[in-house]
Amino acid sequence: MAKASGADTPVMRQYLAAKAAHPDALLFFRLGDFYEIFFDDAVIAAKALELTLTSRNKNAEDPIPMAGVPHHAVSGYVQKLLDLGHKVAICEQMADPSKVKGIVPREVVRIATPALAFDDSAIEAKKNLFLVGLEVASTGRVGIAALDFSTGTLEACEAEGIEAAIAELVRLDPREVLAPDTGDFVATVRAALPRATVREEQEPLDLARSLSVLDAVLGKGESRKSCASDVALVAAARCVGLVRACEPGRPLPMSRLVEYQIGDTLILDDAAQRHLELVRTMDGETKGSLLAHIDMTRTAPGARLLRRRLLAPRTNVAEIRRRLDGVELFVTQPGLRTEVRTRLDKVADLERLAVKLAVERIGPRELSQLRTSLAELPALDSALSKCPDPGAREALEIPAKEPFVDRCEKMATLLGKALADELPLRASDGGVFRDGWDKELDEARMLTKDGQRLIVELEARLREQAQIPSLKLRYTRVFGWYMEVTKTHLSKAPKAWRRKQTIATGERYTCDELDTLADKLAHAEERLESREAELWSELVKKLQAHIERLRAVASRLAVLDVASALAEVAHRDDYTRPEIDDSLELVLEDARHPVVEKLAAAGRFVPNDVTLDAAEDAPEDRARLWIVTGPNMAGKSTFMRQVALAVVLAQAGSFVPARRARIGIVDRVLTRVGASDNLARGESTFMVEMKETANIMRRATRRSLVVLDEIGRGTSTYDGLSIAWAVAEHLHDVARSRALFATHYHELTELAQSCPRAENHSVSAREHAGSIVFFHKVQRGAASRSYGVACARLAGLPEPVLARARAMLDALEKGGTTPSGATRPSRAKAPAPQLDLFGGAGGGNAGPAPSPALEMLRALDLDRMTPLEALTTLAKLKGLA
Ligand code: ADP
Repeated sequence: MAKASGADTPVMRQYLAAKAAHPDALLFFRLGDFYEIFFDDAVIAAKALELTLTSRNKNAEDPIPMAGVPHHAVSGYVQKLLDLGHKVAICEQMADPSKVKGIVPREVVRIATPALAFDDSAIEAKKNLFLVGLEVASTGRVGIAALDFSTGTLEACEAEGIEAAIAELVRLDPREVLAPDTGDFVATVRAALPRATVREEQEPLDLARSLSVLDAVLGKGESRKSCASDVALVAAARCVGLVRACEPGRPLPMSRLVEYQIGDTLILDDAAQRHLELVRTMDGETKGSLLAHIDMTRTAPGARLLRRRLLAPRTNVAEIRRRLDGVELFVTQPGLRTEVRTRLDKVADLERLAVKLAVERIGPRELSQLRTSLAELPALDSALSKCPDPGAREALEIPAKEPFVDRCEKMATLLGKALADELPLRASDGGVFRDGWDKELDEARMLTKDGQRLIVELEARLREQAQIPSLKLRYTRVFGWYMEVTKTHLSKAPKAWRRKQTIATGERYTCDELDTLADKLAHAEERLESREAELWSELVKKLQAHIERLRAVASRLAVLDVASALAEVAHRDDYTRPEIDDSLELVLEDARHPVVEKLAAAGRFVPNDVTLDAAEDAPEDRARLWIVTGPNMAGKSTFMRQVALAVVLAQAGSFVPARRARIGIVDRVLTRVGASDNLARGESTFMVEMKETANIMRRATRRSLVVLDEIGRGTSTYDGLSIAWAVAEHLHDVARSRALFATHYHELTELAQSCPRAENHSVSAREHAGSIVFFHKVQRGAASRSYGVACARLAGLPEPVLARARAMLDALEKGGTTPSGATRPSRAKAPAPQLDLFGGAGGGNAGPAPSPALEMLRALDLDRMTPLEALTTLAKLKGLA
């Protein structure tokens, strides 16, 4: 920062002291009607906000750079800086400048950061706004804590390593992350979370200090009681520490730390979340995602809950069944569903309102929302309690002694009696309370109203007396009340009037009568203001006593909202309740892709069946691995995704798009779909594909569902086929997961001969008059031929190229030579590649004799290899190739 030369005034000293206490934040310093920004901060802010950069003491040798924003518009400017990842410290005037002698005291009252938003404009209604703290143990385990200031949520968990931590982070999708300064960790986190501001915490934090930070906010010993993991506690302390620093001396909304286990949920790593387009499409859009399609919730807490459930489906059979019971209740009772949803429509975001109440940042209009929301509770409660289904209580997880919905009568009555019908934006604007609520307030109101009437009367009287028809009584904050007389009438001003001020158009006067009345009025207004302020803070205090109840209601309503919304979706899109058990089966009849089916013309989406069974003693005719072949565009990828989506939906507690579904709990969905989405990260397609595949190989368990599309595409045909073969075999023999494996290597269908639990399926299509007709039906058996050439025509490849390709294909299929004389690759013993239209297996390459490299690759035990062994083996393989 620049030296303080030229800055040695009391105000600048005050500024420098504030800045010194907050060196990492941009300091907004209140000076009258502006927030001023000085020195380097001014340079940064001026550039980011497109403000004019001026200087405070232009003529000094060393002028201080300065930029300013008007106080009433500060919010937008602050938010822009937060979006860029900055912290902004707000330094306020702590007294009314007109009432202070000497320098006005100023203090930093809050610090805004990307996750600790300045105001509501930056907070998405349907998503948590998470600040995440991280800590890495020497064992490599990672503590993760997520704090949402706007909902008062604080939860923490421990991930077994960096990969698992990244999956969890992607799920949380935080706005800001506080990471310890350990090696490459921060870089990995940054790469995985392009939308977040990731800060590296310079100071290490130990457990003892962490506990004391947490104790100060949550109560002594509370955090330790609720969380067993040390790293999770340290991670939580990072978040809480930042919040405390940012909200100095203010009440905080977090009341408890909740520890959760990653293992309780169906694990969807970042690749799976992306590939299945759960909350965003591959292009990063929310529209078109599964969540956007099924989110029919009516309240923001409901929408947030649904999102959380979709990204962390459960693995506990009983719990999932209970959630499904809730949905079923609303499916079977459409009247109740409509009633509940209509009522919920009128309910505001009670979770966030409760927090605003807790941190005393609530305004009259929000209390009015609270009043309207509470008014719906009795009707909701009676609708649900009239519900004829005796199992409703269990379905909705409502304990026997509790009402279905807490009616919060006391709070409702309080708000109803206290608040006026129409409410101002800010409490200080006045007019918050209903007449009759408070005697003193009513009196003060009478007096001011009376005073105003008296002013009008006095104005008339003075005009009359002085014979000046244009005389006006006016008020300004600086001058108080005065009479204004234009030049024409100045001579008529009585002697008793005292001149207050001369203006261009005339004079301003006062007189005894006006002074007395002005005094009375000022007094009445002051009294009114101070009484309103007193009553406001009393009301807020009274309401604060109900915060926990309000939160409980909010979360109960969120559960009702999600259940009734999912029922609405099930009704709208004709979903069925899945049977959930602990088996290793996955049976879907007439399953559809929830999003793609809506894009197809009505009734044109072709439903498909799947039966996978990973049990050791599964009937003979049941496979656990399906090899799916078929031409491009046939629907392989759609089919595989719809199977995975059915599992995700079911375990999240939703009905599924199928006629019948039986799903044995899945612990992890592992996917590898498509090849293009990672190019932006600068890695080669093949490298990314192999990394993802390696990850899948390592992670897949017998309980997992693996969905692999087009493995080996990013490399040469033989390499690709060999890898695809080895991967499929590994899945079948070692991981033994339920798996779908789509491939354009027709030769892979031969795998079924040697792997008893693998089965060939194909998506049908027929060539017709040189073009291709897709049936989208998945059938048993391998696809009969490649439709590549027909597909290429669909894609608009020039006719001569197509003709040449057709000739090549014919020649190859006849088993003879290609038009250029090359021999057709033999496919007698080992898998050989199909014609690759653009890669060119027929381009003169010799056919693969039973490749020793392939044999060697097949024999490898990838699980037991060290990286060094892998390298040596690679070198050997290269030698064989
Ligand atoms: P592939 O993976 O075999 O190349 P996709 O799954 O990408 O094919 O499907 C290609 C297109 O075919 C999809 O965009 C969709 O419009 C359509 N499609 C896929 N499956 C079906 C289906 N079962 N019924 C109707 N149309 C489908």
